[in-house]
Amino acid sequence: MKARSISSKEEIEDIIRKCEVCHMAMVDPDGLPYLLPMNFGYREGAVYLHSSAEGRKIDILRNNPQVCIGFSTDYLLRHQHPEVACSYSMKYRSLLMTGTVEWIEDPDEKIAAMNIIMQHYTGLDFPYNMPAIREVCVFRLLPRQVSGRAYGY
Ligand SMILES: Cc1cc2nc3c(=O)[nH]c(=O)nc-3n(C[C@H](O)[C@H](O)[C@H](O)COP(=O)(O)OP(=O)(O)OC[C@H]3O[C@@H](n4cnc5c(N)ncnc54)[C@H](O)[C@@H]3O)c2cc1C
Repeated sequence: MKARSISSKEEIEDIIRKCEVCHMAMVDPDGLPYLLPMNFGYREGAVYLHSSAEGRKIDILRNNPQVCIGFSTDYLLRHQHPEVACSYSMKYRSLLMTGTVEWIEDPDEKIAAMNIIMQHYTGLDFPYNMPAIREVCVFRLLPRQVSGRAYGY
């Protein structure tokens, strides 16, 4: 069976809604890949992320804000013959988004972005205290390119 490309906004948003975690790939100053699991939120085509202000990820992103973010869901292992390895496959749907991270610095925009993340996990908005908002790094990816692929669906 061939994988199918995904391009409809509805299907892209359905995949994102179902993902608990994304994986963000970065390129460090030595040209080496660095990939981290991250919580996220999504609104109107943009992925919202947050982080403490220190650490390797933030150092890398300040130096090179180009990222690729992956999402995948709907895993289902199946087989035709339980004793034949090559007859096993996994159904899935996945997305890759590439582009340049934008920093969100304005406190009100940070709160809005944090609530986009919290909405993804809880469906709720929350109040925040200003010191916490000042401390946290918030950024978003409005992707330059989105590719989607489904296998078995
Ligand atoms: C489900 C999940 C959701 C997460 N959500 C967020 C989020 O929304 N925001 C956020 O900032 N972080 C999140 N994390 C943690 C994130 O993956 C990083 O561990 C964290 O952000 C620190 O990254 P850093 O580059 O600053 O690490 P540093 O402390 O600078 O890393 C030092 C070294 O530790 C190793 N390392 C760092 N992180 C990991 C890791 N996750 N797994 C294995 N080795 C690692 C690397 O070798 C790295 O070079 C999440 C992790 C998981 C598993």
